[in-house]
Amino acid sequence: MKKMILPGIICMPLKKNLKGVPSDWREVKCPKCGRSCYERPLPKGCDHMEFENALCTECALKEGKKLHKKWKEQVGRENMKKE
Ligand SMILES: [Zn+2]
Repeated sequence: MKKMILPGIICMPLKKNLKGVPSDWREVKCPKCGRSCYERPLPKGCDHMEFENALCTECALKEGKKLHKKWKEQVGRENMKKE
């Protein structure tokens, strides 16, 4: 089946914040900061889906803030057009 790419960021919990994880969690490195974190298996039925970005929780938070700022700028601009 073709993979479906979902827009957005999936958060991978950082290893340093966890003590013991389920055996089906895969240890990976955050592509942004390189720290060890865990990729959690997607729920049943979502196997063919993939998120655009997978980052550790801390990087995801930072990216999320950036996206939010961009989005706010976009919305602000559109509101100005209407007036
Ligand atoms: Zn990171």
